[in-house]
Amino acid sequence: MKNIFWCKQCNSPILTPKCKVCNTNGFRVASDIRPVFPEEKMLLEILLQYPQGYLSKKSVWYTSGNLLLVDGKTQPLNKGALEKLDICKIREELSRKKSSYYLDHGYSFFNNNMQTFLLCNRERISKIEFEAFEIVEKAKRLDKDFVPIVSFSGGKDSTVVSDIVRRAYANPSIIHAFGNTTLELPETLEYISRFKENNSKIPFIESRSKHDFINVCKKIGPPSRVMRWCCTIFKTGPISQTFTGISATQPILTYYGIRRSESSRRSKYNVIEKSPKISQQTVVSPIINWNDVDIWLYIFERNLDFNSSYRLGFSRVGCWACPSNSSWSFFLTRIYHPELAEPWREFLISVAKEMGKPDPVEYVDSGNWKARQGGNGLESSYKGIIASRPCGDDPFATTYKLARPIENSLYEYFKPFGIISFTQGRSILGEVFVLNKNTGEPIMILQGLPGTNDLKVKIVNQNNYTLLSQRVNCQIRKYQSCILCGGCPSICPTKAISLASGEYKINENKCIGCLKCIANFDTGCLVSKVLQTKKGEVK
Ligand code: SF4
Ligand code: SF4
Ligand SMILES: [Zn+2]
Repeated sequence: MKNIFWCKQCNSPILTPKCKVCNTNGFRVASDIRPVFPEEKMLLEILLQYPQGYLSKKSVWYTSGNLLLVDGKTQPLNKGALEKLDICKIREELSRKKSSYYLDHGYSFFNNNMQTFLLCNRERISKIEFEAFEIVEKAKRLDKDFVPIVSFSGGKDSTVVSDIVRRAYANPSIIHAFGNTTLELPETLEYISRFKENNSKIPFIESRSKHDFINVCKKIGPPSRVMRWCCTIFKTGPISQTFTGISATQPILTYYGIRRSESSRRSKYNVIEKSPKISQQTVVSPIINWNDVDIWLYIFERNLDFNSSYRLGFSRVGCWACPSNSSWSFFLTRIYHPELAEPWREFLISVAKEMGKPDPVEYVDSGNWKARQGGNGLESSYKGIIASRPCGDDPFATTYKLARPIENSLYEYFKPFGIISFTQGRSILGEVFVLNKNTGEPIMILQGLPGTNDLKVKIVNQNNYTLLSQRVNCQIRKYQSCILCGGCPSICPTKAISLASGEYKINENKCIGCLKCIANFDTGCLVSKVLQTKKGEVK
């Protein structure tokens, strides 16, 4: 945690107790801060009922403790109360106020104030820059065959990382990968196209999920804080496919804008580590120890273009519908992008009604929808439920009542266990053998006729019966629930799993039987994990 002080003389935050410009002693104001741009000042004046222009010639910052810092004085911001204000009225007032005259004046003060901020904190910029460059140098030494890629989200952190990495490699042509989640703020998309235009030497690769967000929500319920399935389907999955496209065999060194100060989970990340989600990549985080204030120092120092949603007051610019966003962020989306926020809010209210919530509007507006767990109350697909019973005459066999008739694609899910043989069993009974890849001995025997829903699985290797039958359950859940989300291919180290043909396929020549894909999502499939109910019932 950093100490941010205030220099009264320079009317600027300083990152040292004594101001480097005027030598005045500062006083502590916060542990981290970000600037409030003239656009956000305009909104704050409306919300706080200040006279027009009241904040335009003040040095305004936003602290990590949710306080406003105005010319060095902190003041609370009762966001809960402000969020209840009439959104339509706020929008009307904003459009009345919005004038280039106002912004021009606001910006001439703002830009001067930022120049002072830079002057006061030069030492800090040199220090953090040096550390970031050291990390990139260390990563470069790992392996010369690594393909360096910048993971570019369009946020301020990846803007900084992109600049640092290109400078450290002395190469303007480092590949940038942008995972378009399809839920990007319009300002992010505008910034991305500006960035591409202004950096034409950068090979820019964009991945995008083929799924429609609302359609998936209809099938498996909206994402919640504990069940952010959207990250896998709309981010990790498509990005992993892109990485495979860049280089199927060469390892990838991906530079991310991850910062420890962002969350307690991220505070445990290492500077350089293997990606737990995408098998092919090693993740490097050059700005892992930076705070918000450092990011802005660097952006102003380097005069970098950045995503204009920060000017509006967004402190983070991921997916606008993310359940991890603050209610303030959704409040801002409702103000600036009603075309996105209002249909989403209506959809959430309709889900709340379907779930039988007594006050669906309150359930949504209070943010309680974000705490939803599993498939409780959702009229979701039952396809993942496993109906099975032990086979009366054989303790090592289980009979499944599948929710989906047997098709050839069923056997794809058994390939991680071994070689699929359609010839060794009695075809009249629909017997298919799964053989040990090394010895050719049967591991399990599947019995079920195409088009029927009855499948008998006999485990031949009885020593591992419990483990194997759990794994079979996982694969059957996949067969019943798979919506081709992309989660399984991203974890496979040999890229044996493909969904390209609209079917889950495993290339037996590439599969090394590591079984990593099987229990990746505990229950086998992300979808069935998402629909798991509170009682632990796995759908
Ligand atoms: S994760 Fe392992 S078992 Fe699964 S398909 Fe890939 S190589 Fe085969
Ligand atoms: S089986 Fe489940 S987790 Fe795997 S790709 Fe299909 S939907 Fe995703
Ligand atoms: Zn000073």
